[in-house]
Amino acid sequence: MSKWGSSIFSFLFLVIGYLGETWFPFVVLGSNIWVLAYLLAYLIVGLPVLNKGWNLILKGEVFTEFFLMGLATLGAIFIGEFPEAVAVMLFYTVGELLQHQAVNKARGNIKSLLDLRPDKANVIRGDEIIILNPEEVSVGETIEIKAGERVPLDGVLVQQGGSFDTSALTGESKPLFKNVGEEVLAGMVNLESLNTIQVTKEFKASSLAKIIRTLQNASSRKAKTEQFIRKFAKIYTPIVTFLAIGLVGIPYLIVEDYQFKDWLYRSLVFLVISCPCALVISIPLGYFGGIGAASRNGILFKGSDFLDRITQITTVIFDKTGTLTQSPFEVQEVKENPQGAKDWMSLAATLEQKSNHPIAKALVKFVLQKKIPLLETEEMKEIPGKGIAGTISGKKVLVGNQLLLEENRIALPFGEENDAFTLIYVAVEGKYCGQFLIADQIKPDAKDTVIALRNNGIQEIFIFSGDKQEVTELVGNTIGVDRAYGGLLPEQKVSLWDELKTDQSRVTAFVGDGINDAPVLALADIGIAMGGMGSDLAIESADVVIQTDQLSKIIQAMEIGKATKSIVWQNIGMAFGVKFLVLSLGAAGIAGMWEAVFADVGVALLAILNAIRINKIF
Ligand code: ADP
Ligand code: MG
Repeated sequence: MSKWGSSIFSFLFLVIGYLGETWFPFVVLGSNIWVLAYLLAYLIVGLPVLNKGWNLILKGEVFTEFFLMGLATLGAIFIGEFPEAVAVMLFYTVGELLQHQAVNKARGNIKSLLDLRPDKANVIRGDEIIILNPEEVSVGETIEIKAGERVPLDGVLVQQGGSFDTSALTGESKPLFKNVGEEVLAGMVNLESLNTIQVTKEFKASSLAKIIRTLQNASSRKAKTEQFIRKFAKIYTPIVTFLAIGLVGIPYLIVEDYQFKDWLYRSLVFLVISCPCALVISIPLGYFGGIGAASRNGILFKGSDFLDRITQITTVIFDKTGTLTQSPFEVQEVKENPQGAKDWMSLAATLEQKSNHPIAKALVKFVLQKKIPLLETEEMKEIPGKGIAGTISGKKVLVGNQLLLEENRIALPFGEENDAFTLIYVAVEGKYCGQFLIADQIKPDAKDTVIALRNNGIQEIFIFSGDKQEVTELVGNTIGVDRAYGGLLPEQKVSLWDELKTDQSRVTAFVGDGINDAPVLALADIGIAMGGMGSDLAIESADVVIQTDQLSKIIQAMEIGKATKSIVWQNIGMAFGVKFLVLSLGAAGIAGMWEAVFADVGVALLAILNAIRINKIF
């Protein structure tokens, strides 16, 4: 039975019990038979809670909110207050359900942003084509992909080349032509002809599956304020339990005509009143409201704790290429070494076709526009922060920055340095052959984002880039950051970050897109990745993903974090205030169990309304 189903049944039995008891009192062997309806109503919703409490006790965690609810409701049953016992459990269950619905909605939003899971693969087995779920296809099998279909699994093209729309994976809207032998990835769309691929990875291992998995796990990390409930329960529950025991025991020593049953009753009433249901429900609800609002705006928070943390940032560090700058990266100029290999451009573009780096894409585009044919890669390796190396038709080819070529002891020409351009050198068989001069374009919202960050109280803003110092500084000066560090390798980005973190009071956000940013993205207090152009590794390592690559979304993410925080604290304040009031009224004998249950329902409803409010703001 679904949880909604059990809640409805429980409620029906509660009503049956109540109406029956009022209109057809029917007593068998001294007991009211309608009690059976109540007990059924209680068990349907109460058993899962009791079970959870019991399992936690077995793990050594005795004083949890489940223990308190269990004790209070079993006590209520013991003294014959059946409807109250049912009401507490029923209320808690419905509250949880509403909360889960909010989570699922947030996850649904996340998934629709990446709604790419292919649902079938046309597998060629012998003379037959069998339609299977991509998860059932093994490595080495051949599958057919019709024009317009989504590629279901990672594989290599076997019969002929074709154009593929890779936008879902890379954000690049321009179709990419793939030759025979080249890799196509699950999630791409086959644009032209009928194609066949040989599967190279199980669906589980495809990058698409990895992205989907990361996103689905998004809401499982808990925020500090949520952990606060656990800690709070650890203190609150024993206090309440011992007060309740005291309420039974102490009067025995003081009161003259001590009636055990009377005092037991009062103590159990006290327990029921003390159940912190509304508090337990309202805090996560606030966070899921925030996660949902953010995902609707194309900002994916991978856990509620990051909503908290993003409000505490003091230092923001940007990567440059692909983060502050964007395509079109254009090749502005080419310089050639007359003594070098003649087909160096073709060799360079052939290698770069394998890379997702924005510079690589610009280079391939440039070469293809010149109608230079590409070749087949035999072997290739991307060297983050430096470039790419590989073998084509037996020739060793290097494409990358000065560092990469110097490292390989390749003599570079002296020349007039042009500070504004990123230079990409090409060497074939150990010999310098030519260079591409590439200009990046600063994103239109970069400058305004820096200003807005400062207005939001961010004290320091830096750039950590793998590009030359001159280009990095030029970008830094244009958008107004405090310092721009260029020429950094991935591990140097990490050590520079380490240096910043020697000051413990700094809370750092790192914003990046590349493979070379992944280590810092994972280390930083909060890692923010560009989800459109960004590499899978960056997206996986980050805590927050910006689907549209817009820098201004960082400001919005911070605002959503702040709004969520204040809503959560309003809910905590309200739940506490009302609980305290009812407990005081209860101790004074003015409020009983029903008042407590209604107060909880009221608080929870207000908390839900309050949490929904965030959707109106963003
Ligand atoms: P940033 O840290 O600013 O994002 P990257 O670390 O991604 O920059 O790149 C740093 C430098 O490494 C680039 O400016 C380029 O010179 C070189 N580089 C990285 N990847 C490639 C590639 N696929 N092809 C050519 N050069 C590359
Ligand atoms: Mg980058």
